[in-house]
Amino acid sequence: MDKVTKAADSSQVTAATNPVETGTISRDGTTVIATVNYKVAHDKLTDATKNTLQEAAQQGRDGVGWPDECVRDPAATGSSTARNRLLAWCPGGGNIAGMPDLPAAHGHPVVDIHAHYFPSALRPPTRVADDPRWPFLAIDEGGGAGRIMRGTEVFRRVKPALWDMQARLAELDAAGVGMQVISPVPVTLSMWAEGKDAAEFLRRQNDLFAEAVSASGGRLRGLGAVPLQDVDAAITEMLRVKQELRLDGVEIGTRIGDLELDAPVLRPFFAAAQEAGVPLFVHPTDVEHAVRRAEPMYSFGVGMLTDTALAATALVFGGVLEEFPELRVALAHGCGAFPWTYPRTAYGDALLRGGPDPERTAQLNRLVGSLWADALVFDPEHLRLVAERVGADHLMLGTDHPFLTAPLETALTTVTGAAEQNVLSESETARVLGRNALEFLGL
Ligand SMILES: [Zn+2]
Repeated sequence: MDKVTKAADSSQVTAATNPVETGTISRDGTTVIATVNYKVAHDKLTDATKNTLQEAAQQGRDGVGWPDECVRDPAATGSSTARNRLLAWCPGGGNIAGMPDLPAAHGHPVVDIHAHYFPSALRPPTRVADDPRWPFLAIDEGGGAGRIMRGTEVFRRVKPALWDMQARLAELDAAGVGMQVISPVPVTLSMWAEGKDAAEFLRRQNDLFAEAVSASGGRLRGLGAVPLQDVDAAITEMLRVKQELRLDGVEIGTRIGDLELDAPVLRPFFAAAQEAGVPLFVHPTDVEHAVRRAEPMYSFGVGMLTDTALAATALVFGGVLEEFPELRVALAHGCGAFPWTYPRTAYGDALLRGGPDPERTAQLNRLVGSLWADALVFDPEHLRLVAERVGADHLMLGTDHPFLTAPLETALTTVTGAAEQNVLSESETARVLGRNALEFLGL
């Protein structure tokens, strides 16, 4: 945070934002929060401000990726990457990273933190390609539909937006989503595989993700994947994802083989993620172990939420968040069932420790509040408790696009409905629709 204050004092920030009608500025303690929404003309900035922002760009280049039209002229592009702050501009009135000129339909910048992408070029590693567990994409003739395959088995039927950039962008336009964060389809995480094979497969996938993000004109950001069955290899790939590929974070499963997320062997990975400032997105992957019924309704409706609750419980009660207080971890689907299971688990924790302990209670609440969650819970009223647990400043729009059958815009109605029902205030709604996701990503 020192860097933030040094990079731009209040007068310089004012100078930067004054010419911008859409800009907003507020303060949170000593941290300057400034969001310059879009179309900030470079020639309207003073030389002093340009210099200040350029310095910030040099200090904080890690973790920032810009649309090509912005990075071509580094002297005219500025940014700071400290948490809670985004200052940027493009020359010639271009759009700044992540803020294409689209979100006006909702009155806020709209950022979708939970969406999936399957690169059509992704194939199993050659030496183990015979193993039918590797997923790959088969696209029907004409490109109107596709199937995720495992060997000869159809794992899932999928829509073109899953692999086709133009189809995806058209759906984002229709829904008024300005920026989408693409994650690997969980079946590609391949935690059953040998570490070296998973590493090769996921490296290839990460490369293809970086290509897609780069080709998206600033509309997409990306999360990579790492072979967590080999923690050293996972750390190496996580750093490559962040530093070389310029993706924003990493998606991980709820369990790594037989290991729960609080397993000691995984601690070096969490330590490295904290150290490098890489946000983690936990997605359900182990549903069949979380419920005893495998039919789709149970798996989708109960299994995913239970699976995610088990992961959240391991993070909170298993010491991970305690050991790594700066780690940014988001859990899909509103943290699953965890917002509901938490009080009972905390009660059980107190019993096992010999009785209630106000210090322990406060600590647990603090740990839960450090989690992030998406708002993909299908019921605005349901968001009230999720926001109560993690805070409305840690809640982000998530759509699971393009897997849900309804049009993308309907995925936004849980959040906009929460605003209409006074579950979220107007300013909280704005944060949930966009700004929180940027903060989670460290932009
Ligand atoms: Zn998903």
